[in-house]
Amino acid sequence: MAQQIRIERTKSPKQKPDPNNLGFGKYFTDHMFIMDYSPDKGWHDPRIVPYAPLQLDPSTMVFHYGQAVFEGLKAYRADDGRILLFRPEQNMKRINASNERLCIPPIDVDFAVEAIKTLVKVDSDWIPDGKGTSLYIRPFIISTDPYLGVKPSSTYMFIIILSPSGAYYPGGINPVKIYVETSYVRAVKGGTGAAKTPGNYAASLKAQADAEKKGYIQVLWLDAIEKKYVEEVGSMNVFFVIGDEVVTPSLEGTILPGVTRSSAIDMLRSMDIKVTERKITIQELYDAHEKGLLREAFGTGTAAVISPIGELNWEGKIITINDGKIGPISQKLYDSLTALQYGKAPDKFGWVQEVK
Ligand SMILES: *Cc1c(COP(=O)(O)O)cnc(C)c1O
Repeated sequence: MAQQIRIERTKSPKQKPDPNNLGFGKYFTDHMFIMDYSPDKGWHDPRIVPYAPLQLDPSTMVFHYGQAVFEGLKAYRADDGRILLFRPEQNMKRINASNERLCIPPIDVDFAVEAIKTLVKVDSDWIPDGKGTSLYIRPFIISTDPYLGVKPSSTYMFIIILSPSGAYYPGGINPVKIYVETSYVRAVKGGTGAAKTPGNYAASLKAQADAEKKGYIQVLWLDAIEKKYVEEVGSMNVFFVIGDEVVTPSLEGTILPGVTRSSAIDMLRSMDIKVTERKITIQELYDAHEKGLLREAFGTGTAAVISPIGELNWEGKIITINDGKIGPISQKLYDSLTALQYGKAPDKFGWVQEVK
């Protein structure tokens, strides 16, 4: 699929937001990428056009049945001005895995990475360069048949938008309080937990809102059947340091296979730290804490990279991890991953791609 991307530049560039007050997901750049799918033409008409609202029929299937997938990655500005992407092919492989689950036709991985790079280049003056800032990239696919009735759509749009975002930790990394969710569940085997599809997030809002009312920032999800095994923390993968070993739940169909998760595992192993992927019960974590062996806990994801957990509340039993401070392994992992992403460390894994 060696298609030419047509570029139509905006005639009225927007005013750039205050670089010191970007926050997350609030501002969007001047352009967006769009490509259409129809059964006769396949994916066609790739184009970069001025960022603008979409005009869709109210009956458009995505509004009613949620047949859609998305991704999230970032472009980073290195100190020497280079623009870097972190393992973008992993995100485009994963969008195809999500597509498969949602009955959406696959996209060409190499072409999609090319589309990301071309769009990032067109809007490169939107990439912030302050410490910890980045250009968040949101590729997504929606079903677009104007039709009411449950079946896979026959037409789709693949869209990429860009959002300059501020440092996740402007004031240093502070561990968060997490509520262990025992009523609601996120995913069940055979469901859509391993796909990045909007319905999963809609279904998680209630638990999140209830946890916030109790003073917690996020929930720790347990498995849906036994409410025994830990799965993910909010929309991040989760890791624990027990004694000298790092453990993380194994991927068994209910967990989103994070790019940061996979990178963290490889990075820790390269530091000769033992990492095991296996089932982990919440009871085991509390027992390890009791024995003084639960040294660290943290979430991983593109937005925060590492988000340390300082406190867990499981049915009223509250434990504090590492005195509520970031632990040495979490800190080392955060430093090593961000050093790669911002081009400050040699890329011995071959994870970084430059946008030229
Ligand atoms: C996106 C996501 C993650 C993290 O994935 P990364 O590729 O590391 O950003 C983890 N869990 C859920 C539920 C997610 O949606």
